[in-house]
Amino acid sequence: MSPLKTRLITRIKAEGPMSVASFMAASLFDATHGFYPTRDPLGADGDFITAPEISQMFGEMIGLWCVQSWRDMGRPSPFHLIELGPGRGIMMLDMLRAANVDPAFIRAARVTLIEASPALEAVQGQTLAASPCPISWAGSLAQAPEGPCLIIGNEFLDCLPIRQFIRKREEWHERVVAIDPEDETALIFAVSPTPETLEDFTIFSDASEGDLVEICPGLAQITDTLAERFTEHAGRALFIDYGPADSEVGDTLQALKAHTKVDPLDEPGEADLTARVDFSALIASAYSNGVLPFGTQTQGTFLTSLGIEARAARLASGVSEDAKAKLARQLHRLTHAEQMGELFKAVCLQSQGLALPAGFET
Ligand code: SAH
Repeated sequence: MSPLKTRLITRIKAEGPMSVASFMAASLFDATHGFYPTRDPLGADGDFITAPEISQMFGEMIGLWCVQSWRDMGRPSPFHLIELGPGRGIMMLDMLRAANVDPAFIRAARVTLIEASPALEAVQGQTLAASPCPISWAGSLAQAPEGPCLIIGNEFLDCLPIRQFIRKREEWHERVVAIDPEDETALIFAVSPTPETLEDFTIFSDASEGDLVEICPGLAQITDTLAERFTEHAGRALFIDYGPADSEVGDTLQALKAHTKVDPLDEPGEADLTARVDFSALIASAYSNGVLPFGTQTQGTFLTSLGIEARAARLASGVSEDAKAKLARQLHRLTHAEQMGELFKAVCLQSQGLALPAGFET
């Protein structure tokens, strides 16, 4: 049994069943036995792979998007380039290399990385050791330095803990993690007997008996923090992640270990846990906080309108046939509808008074 599972079983015995959000937070971020603090899970040899790890072209397009955004903001100098959940730091490396098309951008940028995992923070430090811009770390977005900013997060929102609720006899009951009454060493999902009344449920007012809905409290925290920052200074945030354009009913909690789906309750701390991002909820929360949302835009359309095809053609000129084929596969994977092109979406949240963000024109 994973060490975290032993500890969670002891905790549930003492305190009773725990919410899916508490289970997810412990599995992902427990300082001693959590998934992220104890390893570097990214890449082909790890547990999952992300767009910046698939191809340098992804980070390069985001870097160019940042340069355009900085110009839209009136070229503030200095400004903060903040990344949420930077993984191995590869995307920031590719972004800064591409952004060098405008050396004034590089001179003005102060990079702040927000990373929950000490293991990944160390990897980011190595990846970005020769960065042309000063790099520092902050504990959260709220603690990032004040000033005009560009904020980026790829596959960050899908790790934010979600709560799950089930419709029973016209009431909502929280889905919880409990100990299997027939096997003390196993965790199971159960349903809390006490009904909940939360405002968030109004969007699911037509749910049917047995429906499961997910609520991610972290999304509203993000738009609250953005609203505070954006009343003082210009800013723009870009989030790219997987999820539907409109809120959907259903269980989307997913665990991945060594690129294979596993049972989320089996080995907490040993598998990555994510849920589809509810972009409609993020956008609604942005509006109600006075932050301007754009999107969702599909990843395929977003990257294509930023010029990823031209970049792929450029990289493919004068290289071997194998290298050409590899670039074509990377481009396909990032942009094609049956790959990441449609399931992954981009959303831009910005302060009042800025131009339409690049990549969101259609
Ligand atoms: N953006 C990277 C990594 C994605 S994995 C890429 O695309 O490759 C998710 C990243 O977010 C990891 O670095 C993880 O440690 C970090 N993370 C998740 N939740 C976090 C939180 N609440 N605060 C800070 N970092 C977080």
